[in-house]
Amino acid sequence: MNKQVQSDLHILKQAQTLDAELYRILQELQQIAPEREQLKQELEAEKARLKDLDGALKKRQLAQKEKEGELAQKETHIKKLEGQLALVKTNKEYSAMQQEIASLKADNSLLEEDVIRIMDEIEACRDEVTKEQVRLKEREKDFSARELEVQKREKEWLDRKQQLLQQKEQSISTLAPDVKDLYLRIVEKKNGIALTPVKNNICSGCQIQLRAQVINEVMMQDIIVLCDNCGRMLYIED
Ligand SMILES: [Zn+2]
Repeated sequence: MNKQVQSDLHILKQAQTLDAELYRILQELQQIAPEREQLKQELEAEKARLKDLDGALKKRQLAQKEKEGELAQKETHIKKLEGQLALVKTNKEYSAMQQEIASLKADNSLLEEDVIRIMDEIEACRDEVTKEQVRLKEREKDFSARELEVQKREKEWLDRKQQLLQQKEQSISTLAPDVKDLYLRIVEKKNGIALTPVKNNICSGCQIQLRAQVINEVMMQDIIVLCDNCGRMLYIED
């Protein structure tokens, strides 16, 4: 048993505990940007909904104007024809003009029905727009709260990350440079886990059955032993 290796493993275990948490935090931090993007998109979708409803309302208002214009035009035409009725000379002309007036009036009565229908639709649209505006305001409040929550969480993680990096730096500063470098290299490559216990002759890092000789070497603690399969440092759990 090599005292130096024993002491190194002790330090490496501390570093590994810190790195495991650090890795989790880095993972969480990576989720922050997509989470923000998601919030942004959800809010945009809400805004688009209101814009659509507003567009539908405007379209109907325009249709109402058009119908009313048409109605007024026909109304004027009817008045003009009615004024001319007294001036016509023959019965034939008179009845033709009366027929034209009757036909215009029939058109107008349909137009009036259209206008009433459109006005009903406009009222329903207005209700929907108002409801959506209220809803959007509430959603915006909700989104701000969620955004604040994300911001707070991000800050907590960044603070904790800083803390862990410092503690880790301190912890591994006493290791020999080659051991330290090896550890840092494996941590980087192996998703934050460089040192892993042997349990029931199995490497906890990759779940492979270790050879008896490897297990012996790990138990001897004369050298730092790496898993043949995943390359992580091995130790026997006390
Ligand atoms: Zn392994």
